Amino acid sequence: MIDEGVVKYELKYTRTKELAVKECNKIEKVRSRLYSLGLIGAYCDGIGFGNISLRYKKKNSFVITSTQTGEIPKLNPNYYSLVKKVDFKKFTTYAIGPAKPSSEAITHACIYSLDSQINAVIHVHNEKLWDYMLKNGYLSTNDTPYGTLEMVEDVKKIYKDIDPFLNNAFVMKGHFEGVITFGKTLKDAEKTLFEIIKKLLK
Ligand SMILES: [Zn+2]
Repeated sequence: MIDEGVVKYELKYTRTKELAVKECNKIEKVRSRLYSLGLIGAYCDGIGFGNISLRYKKKNSFVITSTQTGEIPKLNPNYYSLVKKVDFKKFTTYAIGPAKPSSEAITHACIYSLDSQINAVIHVHNEKLWDYMLKNGYLSTNDTPYGTLEMVEDVKKIYKDIDPFLNNAFVMKGHFEGVITFGKTLKDAEKTLFEIIKKLLK
């Protein structure tokens, strides 16, 4: 069921030196907390999970942790990528930076496309959290695998008539342990994640 580490869309990538250092450092603060809680990490087979992104300069581009970094406790800007654009019709991601973007960048792009005021997306893995959200009426995608056109359509569908800022978390039914939160700021996205975890621990 664990399908992490598979790139299902086309990536047009150009290697550059480190960039968006300010954004990388902002993400890193949140990432280190989530890493220490095991919400970002790697499975026994070494395949990493969990990623965070931040919109770049109010554009359609965003900075995201690079692919297969889950097991690394601390990421310097060399482990980040700048996604310039995702063309949903051509199903192609355009990215630059010292490393290739997470294969889940397309899901992040889809969330940013919901509202221009969404500036941060957090994706973590945790079985208990995933299970809790599925059983307690949280928004959920269908049984579609991540990184596919179906998943993108699914995300758009669940937010068609729903205010994303009042419902800034959903569970990915077809992506084992996968949960997403987002918000106007990284702080908002992280707060929402911790609020759900608090309820689960009660
Ligand atoms: Zn995932």
